[in-house]
Amino acid sequence: MRLAEKRIALYPGSFDPMTLGHLDIIERLCALYDEVVVALLVNPAKKPYLTQEERLEGMENALAHLPNARVIVGSGATVEVAKAVGAKVMARGLRSVTDFEYETALAAGYRYMDPDIETIMLLAKPELGYISSSIVRDIHALKGDVTPLVPPAIYAVLQRKAQTKGE
Ligand code: ADP
Repeated sequence: MRLAEKRIALYPGSFDPMTLGHLDIIERLCALYDEVVVALLVNPAKKPYLTQEERLEGMENALAHLPNARVIVGSGATVEVAKAVGAKVMARGLRSVTDFEYETALAAGYRYMDPDIETIMLLAKPELGYISSSIVRDIHALKGDVTPLVPPAIYAVLQRKAQTKGE
């Protein structure tokens, strides 16, 4: 490895929507790596709560204070997305044993597809470990207050969506 080589980590996910738990992982990754590429992965088979454009806009605004983080939209094999941006590290977050089972299987898949990519897991901060995108979606759909769960920029996108739907 060349000494000057940039250490780049890819943080992939569906971020539907991004939560304070995701943001915390990204901020911690920014302290560990030269560059953090957050990959908003689009699965055409799934109907998301927020559109790709809404998620992207909210995430870019939510990460504006982090000079070494950027967001890209990706599809297909995640290891190919990592390769395309020069990331040797795949980063994921762990909240629980349920995450652990899923994440270890996923990491095994990444390793099978590209043994040169290392997957690292950051443990959720205890106070953020209960936050999930699905909880945010459920509470928002029921018109509950999601301000303690998401960054302000994501809240703005969620509120705009609720208003345009005439809610
Ligand atoms: P997926 O790729 O499974 O759709 P998400 O977009 O929900 O995942 O999340 C991306 C990554 O962030 C996953 O590794 C997930 O375990 C992790 N994560 C989700 N919520 C939190 C949280 N509150 N704290 C830490 N990590 C989290």
